[in-house]
Amino acid sequence: MKVTRDKWSKNFSEWFDKVLYEGEFYDYGRYPVKGVGVWMPYGFRLRRNVIYFIRELLDSTGHEEILLPLLIPQELLTRETQHIKGFESEVFWVTKGGSQDLDVKVSLRPTSEVAITYMESLWLNSYKQLPKKYYQIVSVFRYETKATRPMIRLREITTFKEAHTVHETYDDAQRQVEEAISIYSKFFDELGIPYVISERPEWDRFAGALHTFAFDTVMPDGKVIQIGTAHNLGQNFTKALDFKIQRKDGSLCYPNQTSYGISDRVIAVLISINGDDHGPVIFPKVSPLKVVVVPIPSKDTEEVTEKVMAYAKKVGNALSEAGIESVIDLDPEKTPGEKYYIWELKGVPLRAEVGPKELNNNTVLLKRRDTFQSKLVQFSDLISAVNEMLNLISKDLKYSAQKYLEEHVKYERSAQEAKSRISSSGGIVELPWCGDNSCGMKLEEIVDARVLGYPLKEKEVKDPCAVCGKTAKTVLRVAKTY
Ligand SMILES: [Zn+2]
Repeated sequence: MKVTRDKWSKNFSEWFDKVLYEGEFYDYGRYPVKGVGVWMPYGFRLRRNVIYFIRELLDSTGHEEILLPLLIPQELLTRETQHIKGFESEVFWVTKGGSQDLDVKVSLRPTSEVAITYMESLWLNSYKQLPKKYYQIVSVFRYETKATRPMIRLREITTFKEAHTVHETYDDAQRQVEEAISIYSKFFDELGIPYVISERPEWDRFAGALHTFAFDTVMPDGKVIQIGTAHNLGQNFTKALDFKIQRKDGSLCYPNQTSYGISDRVIAVLISINGDDHGPVIFPKVSPLKVVVVPIPSKDTEEVTEKVMAYAKKVGNALSEAGIESVIDLDPEKTPGEKYYIWELKGVPLRAEVGPKELNNNTVLLKRRDTFQSKLVQFSDLISAVNEMLNLISKDLKYSAQKYLEEHVKYERSAQEAKSRISSSGGIVELPWCGDNSCGMKLEEIVDARVLGYPLKEKEVKDPCAVCGKTAKTVLRVAKTY
């Protein structure tokens, strides 16, 4: 079978909606509140695997998991002025308890910097307790006024993993941001998600941050999606909340903080990037199921069909015993073709087909979801063959996703060339830039796209700044974004 990617690339939005619903990942748009989705059992398992993995990465690097209240009082949320300026149009407020107006207006958390800083000011008072790294995985609420999209732009973000750290000095906080970047790099690398890391420009930082670093990737429609961020918050929040600690010499100082987050978008990307016109291919490491066993009934006799069913169960059991998550689709109402259709929509990376021929020869036909290539293996070699093929699928998916991203990051000398490239093939365009914010902002206007920022290490460019013509310091990245 040939792998085509027409619907996937040209009609991505429809493709995505269909996969989420028919693949039973996520039910969106039917629950009677705008901008919220429902995780269905299969999608929830995928989400759980992703969460398990990020938890493991954070726990093993000294982060401690906590759980803060969902409610943040107005007085606290508005304490850091830049922060509230950035969020105020998006905050959901609870104003009533039953029929009574509340004395104190409380918000549904849009993020938790102020809430954690408040508690840290009670918990921490000495340099000896630092560094301190906390995280939580919770829902956050944002009143999005732009068109909402399943998993991508939501009013309730259900998988918001936010880490919050405290350090004595600015440099310590900056080193923590570097650790966050390396943790996220590992996270995305092991999920086969390629990315570009940029420092966000001054005018697009997280509200209240001194520096914001972001991971972006390119979706099948060429639009860019932010999948992770890390912020150096400096002393902005500790000053606003008057949170001080004692230094070694006995003096008091405001500690420095960082925060970093990922969200449901990671799962949206996992479902999307390796897809084709048959549906997604879920990266084996986090796929809820690695193999689906499909029995092919005999065309001749019931008796053989029964034996095939028993053989399919034997294959499924052998996989389960080896710890390979699998399912045997024994549904008598569906033809093998109907079964293929649904399991392809769920993105199960491998299919094991067993029919009368396989039964007779004691073999299993393994078919890759990504290439549809098949391999006939002896039952005795089943486990090693499955593991080998899952490894190969992971390697190939990673390679092709990386290649897709690289093909969508291009250098252009002028704003007009950048504009025409982005409107024809999307992706990220890098342009020579002098380093002035005014040129960056002008570029957004001319290109009619968003500035993602600049690389962490300055990139050498020979061409002059695409806006003012002065010597370029590095490149500035622009893209159409989600
Ligand atoms: Zn310039």
